[in-house]
Amino acid sequence: MTLSIVIPCFNEELCLELLHRRVAAAARTSVGEDYEILFVNDGSSDKSWPIMQRIAAADGHVVAVNLSRNHGHQLALTAGLDICRGDRILIIDADLQDPPELLAPMLETMDREQADVVYGVRKSRAGETAFKRATAHGFYRLLSRATEVDIPLDAGDFRLMSRRALDALLALPEQARFIRGMVAWIGFRQVPFPYDREERFAGDTKYPFRKMLRFAIDALTGFSSAPLKLASHVGLALSIGSVILILYIAYAWLAGQSIQGWTSLMLVVVVIGAVQMFVLALMGEYIGRLYNEAKGRPLYIVQEIAGRSERPPVRLGYVADATANRDSPGGKGTRPIR
Ligand code: UDP
Ligand code: MG
Repeated sequence: MTLSIVIPCFNEELCLELLHRRVAAAARTSVGEDYEILFVNDGSSDKSWPIMQRIAAADGHVVAVNLSRNHGHQLALTAGLDICRGDRILIIDADLQDPPELLAPMLETMDREQADVVYGVRKSRAGETAFKRATAHGFYRLLSRATEVDIPLDAGDFRLMSRRALDALLALPEQARFIRGMVAWIGFRQVPFPYDREERFAGDTKYPFRKMLRFAIDALTGFSSAPLKLASHVGLALSIGSVILILYIAYAWLAGQSIQGWTSLMLVVVVIGAVQMFVLALMGEYIGRLYNEAKGRPLYIVQEIAGRSERPPVRLGYVADATANRDSPGGKGTRPIR
């Protein structure tokens, strides 16, 4: 298989058909017939799954993977990457913000530059709110200051990877995944590919503020222990402050003045209390992550696969046995894997 195209989808029923047409056309012009399109249904509550099944039944190039529930964008993507079989792998969003037609020039760049990763860099972002643009801008810059790995600015998950780069990526077992950073971490030759990001074709963003925040915290904690060092910086600052305060109190006492009590005392107590709580919370954030990783659960659970008959060997997740519950009297009666 020359090329795999991996597409995580969450409630994208309006995009799927056009997406399939454009991606298939782009793949055909670039590599002929030797490609697969992998849709990963991330627990959609709309008609995405039946539509995917239909597309997979009609087009032999399509494999549709149904996760057992919503696992989140990065894990859905991981499932697709784990299951795909191509020598080169394109990651693309389902909402057509990243034009599939860029596949050909990206393949060309990969050949010309002898690169293992060609990652899309957003020159412009159409149809995104000023708030999203501003927070994304700030986030990528904060991230690059906080981390030792050079995570490219303004790059999303839209990228083309070689098989050896993907295999290296799949060797990283962590739960809290920030894939664009992890790809930067694995190294090899990676080249940027500037492009204009289009407007979402249909539907709303699947990244509300809450999920964006989670994603940002995952990225920061996953790639940097700088927040933990904050405690020592703040501690140092407070110690210096206290020395100055002691000197001042000694001076005032020697000069025969007495210092007004309640207000200053309260201020010190409140400030120190707040700083301690904040540092505790930061540590809690890392401990929670440690706990999560320590459990060592599979990263995703696949309920069924349409368009491929054998059970794929996967490294990071779990694929339910399609034959185990088939026609069982009490089962839900789903008929997985045709
Ligand atoms: N997505 C997903 N699971 C989720 C949220 C999003 O698989 O829980 C997919 C979504 O269908 C899309 C991609 O991740 O293909 C990026 O999401 P979206 O376009 O909503 O993000 P934005 O472009 O607004 O940052
Ligand atoms: Mg989008």
